[in-house]
Amino acid sequence: MNIDLRSDTVTKPTNDMLTAMMQAEVGDDVFREDPTVNMLEQKVADMFGKESALFFPSGTMANQTAIKLHTNPGEQVICDKYAHIYNYESGGASFNSGVSCKLIDGNRGMFTAKQVIEAINPDDYYYSKTSLVEIENTTNKGGGACWDFEEILAIRQVCAENGLGFHLDGARLWNALVETNDSIAQYGKVFDTISVCLSKGLGCPVGSVLVGDAKIMKDALRVRKIFGGNMRQAGYLAAAGIYALDNHVTRLKEDHKKAKEIGAFLTQLSVVKSVEPVETNIVIFELNEAMDEKKFVQDLADQQIYIIGMGNKKLRMVTHLNYDDTMHNRFLEILKKLAEK
Ligand SMILES: *Cc1c(COP(=O)(O)O)cnc(C)c1O
Repeated sequence: MNIDLRSDTVTKPTNDMLTAMMQAEVGDDVFREDPTVNMLEQKVADMFGKESALFFPSGTMANQTAIKLHTNPGEQVICDKYAHIYNYESGGASFNSGVSCKLIDGNRGMFTAKQVIEAINPDDYYYSKTSLVEIENTTNKGGGACWDFEEILAIRQVCAENGLGFHLDGARLWNALVETNDSIAQYGKVFDTISVCLSKGLGCPVGSVLVGDAKIMKDALRVRKIFGGNMRQAGYLAAAGIYALDNHVTRLKEDHKKAKEIGAFLTQLSVVKSVEPVETNIVIFELNEAMDEKKFVQDLADQQIYIIGMGNKKLRMVTHLNYDDTMHNRFLEILKKLAEK
């Protein structure tokens, strides 16, 4: 039995999802004639109360498109030092949009409205023009932490007062929503643009969606085309997204429960120095000085358990749709044995 906890992107479509995909009605989406893609976009736009949505092959492309829509070359984006757009999108913000990132030294990937105010450049010609604030919910490198919606509202206010765009990288927004009971419509009201992933916790093989009102989304199609993201009979993929939104959102709670249980077991291991608070489906923990990171990962791999290192003796595990009860019980047994050593 392979137990793959490297990421929630390793999921494969369930049989019911595959059936939904095979039954999809499709057309050429470049002519905007794929009824299933159109249905998914309408569905996600409606969920957020936004005027427009666009289906993307990846979350990276959805975020990169948002940055392009909000900025001009030479301008600056405010984000956390842990931000996916800064760390894990191959320098795309500078490559695609010619912008730099002003990094906030936040807490687990989150920051305050006050820190945003401090990060906005003065309105003098020799500074880069600040044009966008970007946040991530849940935070990836921050260990799946969920934002406090009150802080998001305060940042929205700062953006409004300073004429800044506000983008949410909501790759795992679904996890935040089921954990906090915040409403999806609330999020739609506060952000100018939001990207969401269908291929993480929701279990689709491919796909992300970017939403926003018509004005900001006006050039989204063109930008996606420039980035090479036009797809043709993409309805087969969109059908997976529709299925996932209808069937795989509330069950994320189960992933969170399992992650919290893993976190609690890890605190009992002598080789573990600390475990970051587990709020959703990501567990980040740090090994003791004496414990070699590669060896720890290899020892688990020898027992068909796969996790990833994040550098500096930090390791990550992510629970997901394909990590079932049997795997979970087996993994907890193994951790128990390690604790007794
Ligand atoms: C996974 C992820 C993305 C998008 O990743 P893709 O692999 O391009 O789909 C964006 N933001 C965050 C926080 C992520 O975890």
